[in-house]
Amino acid sequence: MTTELATAPVEEFQAETSAVNRPITDLSLAELRDEVVRLGQPAYRAEQVAGWVYRSTISSFEEMTNVPKALRAALAERFRFHALEQQAALLSADGETRKIVLSLPDGELIESVLMRYPQRADGTGAERATVCVSTQVGCPVKCTFCATGLMGFSRNLSAGEILDQALYFLRWTREHPPVVRNVVFMGMGEPLLNYDATMAAASRLIDPQCAGLGAHRLTVSTPGWLPGIQRLIEDPLAVRLAVSLHAPNDPLRSQLVPLNRRFPIPQVMQTLHDYQRRTGRRVTFEYTLLDGVNDTPALAHELAALLEGLDSHVNLIPMNPVADIPYAPSPWPVVEQFHQILRDAGMICTVRHEMGRDIKAACGQLRAELQRSRQPIAQATGIGAGVVVRTA
Ligand code: SAH
Ligand code: SF4
Repeated sequence: MTTELATAPVEEFQAETSAVNRPITDLSLAELRDEVVRLGQPAYRAEQVAGWVYRSTISSFEEMTNVPKALRAALAERFRFHALEQQAALLSADGETRKIVLSLPDGELIESVLMRYPQRADGTGAERATVCVSTQVGCPVKCTFCATGLMGFSRNLSAGEILDQALYFLRWTREHPPVVRNVVFMGMGEPLLNYDATMAAASRLIDPQCAGLGAHRLTVSTPGWLPGIQRLIEDPLAVRLAVSLHAPNDPLRSQLVPLNRRFPIPQVMQTLHDYQRRTGRRVTFEYTLLDGVNDTPALAHELAALLEGLDSHVNLIPMNPVADIPYAPSPWPVVEQFHQILRDAGMICTVRHEMGRDIKAACGQLRAELQRSRQPIAQATGIGAGVVVRTA
């Protein structure tokens, strides 16, 4: 069995000091320059520091060998190198999904997930790695099938706390390729309710002097917080947008996504048409298939009609079962039928790989169980059960 469990904090991810300093990644590059100048050093040192923070595998200021010792020491006094400390790492039985539970300086726990997609069986396509980051501790939206929604809302994450999740896996995959190229804001929380920190993190992931990922490689996912989508339309950062739809009509969607009562489907669609007209970007729709709830052929036809005229990509997600949540995943033939109806209607539609079910890879599940049971993680998750990876 390839399942791995590591409960001890790993050396490379320990905070340098227990003092509650801000993580260095909370600073924009401009703020870092100001800080460096304030410390009596030329501004270009900030780019050197950023190179180490965003594009290396080191884990402390001390290791920044081309930075003067005095500056390293001054930064270490004022900032944390990492905001987060690893509490647990779990590897799915197929080895392709790696989930970490991280603690924040105030003791809160969040989850991040690395998903590695292998080459297709026929040898085509590239191996690629995507990291899924959290933007809040818990979530105030409370979708009825979501483990994060069930736990309620504690607080927003800072830009550095969001970024450090991606940097954790960027560092790790530099030693275990393929290196992360895509970041999705689809972990715990609603990114558009923490807009400034989410987009500050995105800008440093994109900036070539920081992590240097392409804007099109970042995806922000929302259940339809329309003020946030309106801000995205104006935002110079051309990140991708995914909308968690889950139902094509208001009565059903309001049951699953309570936010729909505030922003019903006609308003959501109008805003998305506006988004597309102004940005020219395709919209992804996430649709989690729940057995006997939103997976009938009639609803597939209704969905196709709703999305007509919008350049879209529908991502069907097999539900991850969650303790205390009364929904179940749709059987595979139902998923296939739903998929086929959308394709026959001429839509671009994929079924998300069902990854890491054995390590509870849907957002918030592992953290919720950990919190509830306070058992060792191996017991809490029952890791070792078979993982199913399917391609559509
Ligand atoms: N809050 C944002 C992003 C985080 S959730 C949003 O809702 O879009 C990321 C995706 O996981 C969403 O599409 C969400 O609906 C889906 N999701 C939540 N719980 C799930 C579960 N138990 N099984 C499958 N998908 C789930
Ligand atoms: Fe929040 Fe997204 Fe979960 Fe809904 S699905 S409760 S918006 S994290």
